[in-house]
Amino acid sequence: PLILGIESSCDETSVALLRGFDVLSHVIYSQLIHQEYGGVVPELASREHETAISRVVDKAFAGAEGLTPADVDAIAVTYGPGLMGALLVGLNFAKGLAIALDKPLIAVNHVEAHLYAPFLEFPELKPPMLSLLVSGGHTMLIDVRGIRDFTILGQTLDDAAGESFDKVARLLNIGYPGGPVIDRLSEKGDPEAVVFPRPYLDKDSLDFSFSGLKTAVLNYTKTKESFTDQEIADIAAGFQASVVDVLEEKVRRAVLKTGHKHVILAGGVAANRLLRKRLKGLETKMGVHLYYPPLKYCTDNAAMIAAAGVLYYEKGWTSGLHVPAVPNLRIYDHSHTG
Ligand code: ATP
Ligand code: MG
Ligand code: FE
Repeated sequence: PLILGIESSCDETSVALLRGFDVLSHVIYSQLIHQEYGGVVPELASREHETAISRVVDKAFAGAEGLTPADVDAIAVTYGPGLMGALLVGLNFAKGLAIALDKPLIAVNHVEAHLYAPFLEFPELKPPMLSLLVSGGHTMLIDVRGIRDFTILGQTLDDAAGESFDKVARLLNIGYPGGPVIDRLSEKGDPEAVVFPRPYLDKDSLDFSFSGLKTAVLNYTKTKESFTDQEIADIAAGFQASVVDVLEEKVRRAVLKTGHKHVILAGGVAANRLLRKRLKGLETKMGVHLYYPPLKYCTDNAAMIAAAGVLYYEKGWTSGLHVPAVPNLRIYDHSHTG
């Protein structure tokens, strides 16, 4: 099927056209305005989406030669989780298109769509698989048995992994978003110069907790008046090593528990190079295959929303036009789309 995907849950306005898992066209407009605030400002995000959405849709069609909106089989759009005002822009635009074109709407859970992003690179990949979803708002180990059929094996009890990168970068005053900055800076740092705790590793649980680690970094930064660039890089490397150690060990335990041979890494933190390298190491150690999406499909994008749309369309799962925007939507909640 030819699926149009629309994403506007946070600070990316993105539109994609997919034929099956073939990405015909993909436009991501990342809102830069939030950088000066060190975080996403919801009202500004809604306004930026509203200004951009129509142009981003036009650009997506301009990028797919010969295709017009009338050729689309269905319109897939994020309806949650995310910022209410931001979600409403994409969702209502999609509803308008669905009515005008008389095509079905497919309401997509943004977090679930992160899980399907690896299919864009590996179309032959199929569940069952173990997924580590690490993003700005989520940290979860998920047993994916099929499309829309999963069990959460563990999740964070407080901060998400990406959130902890962002918060630590803010307290080190090195920029936003923190993940890419810490990733780069850590290369110059010694991960053993400052050793931070490995939270929640002693517990016999697949849950995570990252807020204590952030506090440990905060406390360390109070031990001196100022730090040299090298010391900042060491702190960043020490923090990153701690997060990655915990994620790797929990993935290892989850592989033992589920016996799954396919491990997928998804969400914005999947871009982290140390994490990729360490999980790659599990391939030979544990006889599993690791799949992760290319960078552009790790962070927020409409290609993964359209990919979810393709999977849903093939199952005949479309949504009514009454589907609401649901800011705190859970990954297993399908009660709004019936
Ligand atoms: P959610 O999908 O849970 O609603 P989100 O959409 O904000 O949250 P994503 O866009 O998937 O999250 O990911 C953004 C997060 O990924 C940010 O916290 C960012 O710091 C982090 N991130 C991006 N690149 C890297 C990297 N190289 N290393 C570590 N973290 C990274
Ligand atoms: Mg974003
Ligand atoms: Fe996301």
